[in-house]
Amino acid sequence: MSESLSLGRLVVVGVGLIGGSLARALRRHGAAREIVGVGRSRRHLERAQALGVIDRFGELPDVVAGADVVVVAAPVGAMDALFEQMAPQLSPTALITDVGSVKGAVIEAARRRLGAHFGRFVPGHPIAGTEHSGVEASFASLFQGHRVILTPVAETDREAVATISRLWALTGAEVSEMGPDEHDAVLAATSHLPHVLAFGLVELIASRADSQRCFDLAAGGFYDFTRIASSDPVMWRDICLANRDALVGRLREYGSVLATLTETVERADGAQLEAVFRRAKQARDRMLRARENTPRQPTRQR
Ligand code: NAP
Repeated sequence: MSESLSLGRLVVVGVGLIGGSLARALRRHGAAREIVGVGRSRRHLERAQALGVIDRFGELPDVVAGADVVVVAAPVGAMDALFEQMAPQLSPTALITDVGSVKGAVIEAARRRLGAHFGRFVPGHPIAGTEHSGVEASFASLFQGHRVILTPVAETDREAVATISRLWALTGAEVSEMGPDEHDAVLAATSHLPHVLAFGLVELIASRADSQRCFDLAAGGFYDFTRIASSDPVMWRDICLANRDALVGRLREYGSVLATLTETVERADGAQLEAVFRRAKQARDRMLRARENTPRQPTRQR
């Protein structure tokens, strides 16, 4: 697939970590004549402009008039209103895409709000990120070697999918497709559940009377496990609510694994504990070996 792309106006709605990184990567390749930002805080947009991430900024809906591609990179819970605001000014050829971490709920919002433009909406999710937020945290190589999953539905225009695939390929990402339900089920297990566990563990320790002492004595394991609890609370609130059925299922399963492990420790069943830990270690080692054989990077993924 050719990776060249020559867009006129690219609009990025939400110039934060993901939107800013995408804009930086596309600018490197001269993929758009101009990149225009949309956001809530004028100060953040001015900063994005000063950093050279965007050429200028504007407001919805006016800014999308004449745009070739509109990328929605705001928190998932804001997308319904953003689609509604932009719809009246979208040109009949404009492509719309998003980077939201949940696909089913975003697709439903787009279907509800974009009307006749829905066929040119290509749902997407870069499986890359960090625990940092905002345009200052963005960098052009964020997606290099990472997966981007597109989740088109039956109505989605295949040419639109091809163009958005090319756009992501320019960033160095490996683009693939899957159904939105499968995406949300898998990501609930491998991304949304771990984030809730990390937030929950820090909450548990922080609410102890001796929390300061605990944090002072925390070692690498605690830092590794809880790195993602430094992520943006609003973004994760939205993700949990948008994917709540799948997430609740995984949380209940994890609860029963924890209950079993608790009983195993309680009855001092070393053989059983060792068997569980051995199976888990083997599975994780296999996962790491498989990753070593692909160009994907093992860290900083969401
Ligand atoms: P971020 O750094 O906090 O950036 C979000 C941006 O959206 C900010 O520039 C913010 O503007 C803007 N925004 C928030 N509410 C808005 C609204 N109502 N209207 C317009 N703009 C609004 O967050 P992020 O990490 O880039 O995440 C953005 C999206 O990417 C989310 O949907 C998330 O699920 C998805 N995602 C994140 C990661 C990750 O690792 N972070 C990975 C994959 C996908 P202000 O600064 O002006 O408020």
